[in-house]
Amino acid sequence: MSLGGIEAGGTHWNCAIGGRGVELTRVETFPTTTPAETIGRAVEFFAAEPDLEALGVGLFGPVDLRPDSSRWGTILTTPKPGWEDVDVAGALAAALEVPIALDTDVNAAAVGEWRHGAARGAGTFVYVTVGTGIGGGVFANGRPVHGLLHPEVGHMMVPHDRSRDPFEGCCPFHGDCLEGLASGTAMRERWGKPAEELTDPEAWDLEAEYLALGLANLVMVLSAERIVLGGGVGRAPGLIERVNERLSETLAAYVPAPEVVNPGLGPRSGLIGAIELARSC
Ligand SMILES: [Zn+2]
Repeated sequence: MSLGGIEAGGTHWNCAIGGRGVELTRVETFPTTTPAETIGRAVEFFAAEPDLEALGVGLFGPVDLRPDSSRWGTILTTPKPGWEDVDVAGALAAALEVPIALDTDVNAAAVGEWRHGAARGAGTFVYVTVGTGIGGGVFANGRPVHGLLHPEVGHMMVPHDRSRDPFEGCCPFHGDCLEGLASGTAMRERWGKPAEELTDPEAWDLEAEYLALGLANLVMVLSAERIVLGGGVGRAPGLIERVNERLSETLAAYVPAPEVVNPGLGPRSGLIGAIELARSC
């Protein structure tokens, strides 16, 4: 049995072949360039697989996921040049002629962590990735959440004390939403250097503070049993301890603080989750 998965992100696409469990037999990564070139490379990768049964795609969004929509699998309003209104699922289905299962890249990562990683056994949890931006996959009662579109947890509003942090925020849509204040892009713009070069404890205390405020909202709204915190910034050494501490203080024992943990599958949550989506076809 051969299943394909694509972690189709805004900067890179990762393609893989898997079968049972978490072992991947072929993996290829390439940059997200134009839609024609990027989708073409993915098609080439999977066309070389003689007995491909299904394909799972974790796609960057916002994307139309309504099963009855004529635009299912189409990318909606994206600031990424050339990708707005591109029917990614349709292009892959036409070229490969296999069933396709689709979700957001972050919901796919949540599926991977739920099946094989740090969220095993949790029916209601959140996977949050903090990198250039902030995204999150939400699981409730054992299923990824969809609705109007899909959760966009990076764009929730959090308290912003301008006397402590005069930085305006960098989200092109909302200014000082969580992504605008706590993404890797926000850290670089506020402190003048990228997160991986930041050693100032004040920078990391502020980062932990914003993430804890956002996670506290998720815990209160969803009753999340666990939070998986991934991404290049999310996995920074020492951050998770600070976030756990601040989350616990923020919740103030009104509800028990769920544990914030790093992904059990490391940077492969999305790709393994995409294979799991294919298994559901
Ligand atoms: Zn925003």
